[in-house]
Amino acid sequence: APVDSSAPVAPLFKVNSPNVEYTDSHILSKYTYSNTVVNKQADGSMIVEPVEQEYHFKTERTVPRVGLMMVGLGGNNGTTLTASIYANKNKLNWRTKSGVHEPNYWGSVTQASTVRLGVDGKGNDVYVPLSEMMPMVNPSDLVIGGWDISSKNLAEGMERAQVLEYDLQRQVYDELAKIKPLPSVYYPDFIAANQFDRADNLIPGNDKRAHVDHIRKDIRDFKVANGLDKVVVVWTANTERYAELIDGVNDTAENFLAAVTASHEEVAPSSIFALACIEEGVPFINGSPQNTFVPGLIELAERERAFIGGDDFKSGQTKFKSAIVDFLVNAGIKPVAITSYNHLGNNDGKNLSSHKQFRSKEISKSTVVDDMVAANDILYKPGEHPDHTVVIKYVPSVGDSKRALDEYECDIFMGGRQSISVYNVCEDSFLASPLIIDLVVMAELMTRIQYKTGEMTKFSSFHSVLSLLSYMLKAPMVSRGTPVVNALGRQRSAIENIFRACVGLAPNNEMGLEHKIW
Ligand code: NAD
Repeated sequence: APVDSSAPVAPLFKVNSPNVEYTDSHILSKYTYSNTVVNKQADGSMIVEPVEQEYHFKTERTVPRVGLMMVGLGGNNGTTLTASIYANKNKLNWRTKSGVHEPNYWGSVTQASTVRLGVDGKGNDVYVPLSEMMPMVNPSDLVIGGWDISSKNLAEGMERAQVLEYDLQRQVYDELAKIKPLPSVYYPDFIAANQFDRADNLIPGNDKRAHVDHIRKDIRDFKVANGLDKVVVVWTANTERYAELIDGVNDTAENFLAAVTASHEEVAPSSIFALACIEEGVPFINGSPQNTFVPGLIELAERERAFIGGDDFKSGQTKFKSAIVDFLVNAGIKPVAITSYNHLGNNDGKNLSSHKQFRSKEISKSTVVDDMVAANDILYKPGEHPDHTVVIKYVPSVGDSKRALDEYECDIFMGGRQSISVYNVCEDSFLASPLIIDLVVMAELMTRIQYKTGEMTKFSSFHSVLSLLSYMLKAPMVSRGTPVVNALGRQRSAIENIFRACVGLAPNNEMGLEHKIW
């Protein structure tokens, strides 16, 4: 049944504090942000000042009716996610040789993880689902649509993907067969030549401005046809090659717009979609590694105050890397070499077997430990990095079941060496699909949160570049001049604590002081 978008969802908990007010339409919070400013002196010493700033947050309580439009809808991620949402919504069961299975949203940090809300009267921890911290859209209520250069309907796409069990495929087949991807923008030079056979569902012509307008109309039509309040667009189409950064073409907002009008060859399909979304005021998230967000496009998003996020879903190997390297470096152990080898046999792997597309992935995977290494100058000299190598091979017979082998070679105590070897086997699309849910749920939520500091007269939305989505992204995009955080634990804390701030709660700390004193 359609969501009643006129009433706010009753929250699981209400905060009882003079700093928090629940109105029919909003949660209003007053929050003191405590920070620590460090001034390095010429002699190397530091003067440290605790600083406090007052923030006001205002969150719309009504969860809107949301559409998710995926670019690459007919691919492995698109079909797996669509079928899984349908299975969850309709509580379908399916049988395999190991018994009866029920649908779930495991792997989604918003839907399947909990956060420590506080302690009860006896000092015991109380946990709530992360999804209950704020009024968030339920993924089962998402209306799904999108584009693909392949004309296969989603049932055929699901069969082609070979990800879901047959007994589930059988039950969702008719419903998925009703969904046919909209024709898309195809500039053959941007994805591997081996994708050419698939491209039979294309928006005609070579006029790039007309393509943007076409996509804009698709979004508007989808919204009207499904009675939606909001749409979020996610690029889960093939990895493109990098667009060349050329002064006068994609360096500024004006130049980029002119390049689109001139149908310049360095404007990629993903940038066409991003531009259409920016102009429609619809959040756009790039789940692939290419540089969709050329500087001109970022400038434009900022100017239009449109939300953008990227790049590249952080699903398996990199997620593990961003947790284990954080752990090692914070344990005082020095990774000196990280060697990552992958093989996979799905269409993503086929596309990545082409050098230029692989290069996009290699770049995206390469910077993931930089901030953790830079944070520890006991282990690493300035500018020193571990050797970091990434290899990806296409092995068709393993299908979507990607193999990732990683070796972490570490220097330890007194000249010792430690080699940690990790072997990860998993269907890639089962890892990426829940991330798409988190990206959509959180991006939509960010459209309903506003903030104001003491100096500001009006509430403002957050910055266009949604760095809060970093937890789900391999090469997180952040606003200009701000540091990139790759460490997984820090990324999760940011989510948890910003949500806490919005309901007027202090950040979670692990002091447990009440348990450590007499
Ligand atoms: P896939 O090849 O199965 O699906 C991609 C789909 O995009 C295909 O159906 C293809 O026809 C379509 N497509 C290509 N160009 C298009 C365009 N211009 N417009 C519309 N559709 C287009 O791949 P997948 O396994 O679903 O992965 C999708 C993307 O997500 C890849 O770029 C991959 O690198 C990225 N990614 C995946 C994971 C993961 O764990 N699965 C992790 C990180 C990133």
